[in-house]
Amino acid sequence: MTELSPALKQATPVLAARGEGVYLFDEDDRRFLDFTAGIGVTSTGHCHPRVVEAAQQQVATLIHGQYTTVMHRRLLELTERLGEVLPTGLDRLFYVNSGSEAVEAAVRLARHATGRQNVIAFSGGFHGRTMGAAALTSSGTKVRAGIGPMMPGVAFAPFPETYRHGTGEDEEVARALAEFDRLLVTESAPKDTAAIIVEPVLGEGGYVPSPASFLAGLRRRADEHGILLIVDEVQTGVGRTGRFWGHDHAGITPDVLITAKGLASGFPLSAIAAGEELMSRAWPGSQGGTYGGNAVAAAAAIATLDVVRDEGLVHNAAEQGQRLAEGLRKVAADHPVIGDVRGLGLMLGNEFTTAQGQPDAATAARAHAAAAEEGLLLLTCGPHGNVVRMIPPLVVTAEQVDDAVARWQTAVARAVA
Ligand code: PMP
Repeated sequence: MTELSPALKQATPVLAARGEGVYLFDEDDRRFLDFTAGIGVTSTGHCHPRVVEAAQQQVATLIHGQYTTVMHRRLLELTERLGEVLPTGLDRLFYVNSGSEAVEAAVRLARHATGRQNVIAFSGGFHGRTMGAAALTSSGTKVRAGIGPMMPGVAFAPFPETYRHGTGEDEEVARALAEFDRLLVTESAPKDTAAIIVEPVLGEGGYVPSPASFLAGLRRRADEHGILLIVDEVQTGVGRTGRFWGHDHAGITPDVLITAKGLASGFPLSAIAAGEELMSRAWPGSQGGTYGGNAVAAAAAIATLDVVRDEGLVHNAAEQGQRLAEGLRKVAADHPVIGDVRGLGLMLGNEFTTAQGQPDAATAARAHAAAAEEGLLLLTCGPHGNVVRMIPPLVVTAEQVDDAVARWQTAVARAVA
């Protein structure tokens, strides 16, 4: 019998048969509250009728309008629609399929545009599993172990983590920026440094928001040294954090923005956006790919952007995110094993720690498994796997948030019993 490779790992025991909004149903029609959203992908919920309709229409019309052979209308429309939400000046786009591919494409672009090689990433950051993206990733050795040597030209700077270091935000940001400056004089000279790549909220690395002053500090340094600031919005983009882009919380503008996951409600699509002058420094044909900007994915993305706008999902993410955070903080108050609840919008993590303040992955795993038994699907993250994250579709309602918190309360109680 042929089976799936053990190289894959499944976070929950569910065999999904269908999805509807915030719910997944297994083959016995058991209903689960899906607070994983397919790792932050099903932004409009599972099978939103408008996304389904747009995709169905497109499937019947043109599935594969290969965009380096012929252009197709959906991609032009999507580009215009993204122009309405992208930061001013980031008005040239191209498309690939996944977050990892987009990250690699952004690095290619940065190297072309600057003629420099190095990229500075952050400790705890996650940018993907393909070889180049894995080289920029340090959220956990499982992504890197045993596959080296990695792509050279990558330096890691510390990310500010107030909870882990028990420091105040200002102090932590000052420390991280000082280390960043030190890196520029010890490891990666500005004249060799093409780009800085950063997540507005550390995702796989443990759901740690970037303080606004940290992103502003990076922006200043990038400007001072002619380094490009690449913001990886693969997980934080399209309303997830309660603003359209995660970096909006910091009031900065990136040089290059990467978006994927929530963009097309489950169809593989990612986009790289930058200004005209920067994009024109890359030569024609230096970017592309067979499936990038697929017509069905583009149609789904247009419908996704319509739903996000028409149903006020960015606002909903902020509102329900606040409600969820309050609920989770109450659960944490009852259970000291949860040392920290943090995040932005509907991107929230519960960090499990021992009484000595050490990562407690065992209790986190028990709570995660118990939650699935209680009908609430969740994911873990963080270098130690001790952060249980909640990342529901942006259409989640107050009732569903309250339902999830009640199930979480039970799951945590079972995990510590
Ligand atoms: N960047 C970030 C911030 C991510 O969260 C992820 C996926 N978790 C990626 C890149 C990689 O995306 P993909 O899995 O689509 O390659």
